[in-house]
Amino acid sequence: MEENHPQRYRRPSEGPKRLAVIGATGSIGTQTLDIVESHPERYAVSVLTAGSRVEKLIEECRKFRPALAVIADTTKYKQLRDELSPLGIETASGADALADAMDREDFDTVVTATVGYSGLQPTIRAIDAGKDIALANKETLVVAGDIINERLRHSTSRMFPVDSEHSAIAQCLAGEDRNSVRRLIITASGGPFRKWRADRLMSATPGDALKHPNWSMGAKITIDSATMMNKAFEIIEARYLFDIPGDRIKALVHPQSIVHSMVEFVDGAIKAQLGVPDMKLPIAYALGEHSRLADVSRPLTLDDISSLTFERPNAAKFPCLGLAEYALSRGGNTACVINAANEIAVAAFLDSKIPFPFIYNVIENTIAEVEHIESPSLDDLVATNAEARARAAEIVAKI
Ligand code: NAD
Ligand code: MG
Repeated sequence: MEENHPQRYRRPSEGPKRLAVIGATGSIGTQTLDIVESHPERYAVSVLTAGSRVEKLIEECRKFRPALAVIADTTKYKQLRDELSPLGIETASGADALADAMDREDFDTVVTATVGYSGLQPTIRAIDAGKDIALANKETLVVAGDIINERLRHSTSRMFPVDSEHSAIAQCLAGEDRNSVRRLIITASGGPFRKWRADRLMSATPGDALKHPNWSMGAKITIDSATMMNKAFEIIEARYLFDIPGDRIKALVHPQSIVHSMVEFVDGAIKAQLGVPDMKLPIAYALGEHSRLADVSRPLTLDDISSLTFERPNAAKFPCLGLAEYALSRGGNTACVINAANEIAVAAFLDSKIPFPFIYNVIENTIAEVEHIESPSLDDLVATNAEARARAAEIVAKI
């Protein structure tokens, strides 16, 4: 079979590495730009994109002077164009323009910092164009892990995890023989409801769920942390990033968020990566292609920490966690359905339309209503996503 291997953009050996930051106005996007700002000799941006926060995108473009700015929300396009054209910055809008931007030749690495399903198409296009991926958007691997890995096999593109747990695992695996790995242990803070009694969760408000104990993140991932769906997604993400069966990936609650994850080896040794909870470290480790950037985060002073504790997750109180095992064993389009239903359910909870524990019910009922596809193509997953969203929205409307 003839394979068309796109030529990877080759960065000149001199000068900064050029980035496209998609989702540049969010939590990961702005922290990425902080690193760019403090290391102009290493990094520069060619493309910045946002969902709908046009003012913030314009402000960033004035500062970082990319060649292109894209806003997904087409109603905001005129404002973007009017403000950036005089600066000589190209502008575009819509989901297709965002994906098309990935074909440009003026950057080497894309930081996927958009939230949810919106990360999938641009990531696929970037892989096909041979760009390296600094992957924050874990939903991409949840929705289409098999397809992404297949595309990576046929591309010169490399994928570097930004998620702190997966960065920790990559750091623990450095220099190790992959055949010596027994288990991956993904740590979880336990979220804001770790100590709540299960029967109290019906009265949990969006405000309660948005109070993450250790990390300041976008709203969607913060709710996913409260339901522990985020940990289920991270198990699926690890399955595809590290090519290890799901039954050898475990979640472990560690409320201090100092140990970012661990790898257990066949001889019984466990390696862990520790640090203060600060996403700049894993972002910089990914941008540096798994090399370290001095002083990117505050040092961890262990003498100030009296104890590091670990406990089993409460699967009965947080049933979303169990969806990882279910999705990986059932396979096919299951995780895509779960992701889509979760996005609808989380938005409904944030809108105060459904109580917190019903996020799980919406997902469970959506799975029952969407046809299972054993070996989905990318088009099948696009259709599954649309179908699951529609079913989930109907289920929400009946609650
Ligand atoms: P956020 O909500 O703060 O930012 C999301 C960004 O995506 C914004 O720039 C927004 O404008 C853009 N966006 C939203 N919808 C879009 C759409 N439909 N099309 C195009 N762009 C869109 O989110 P975040 O917390 O920065 O998380 C981003 C991704 O990184 C998520 O997949 C999340 O799971 C992952 N992640 C985040 C953290 C964290 O600390 N924030 C840690 C690990 C992984
Ligand atoms: Mg994480």
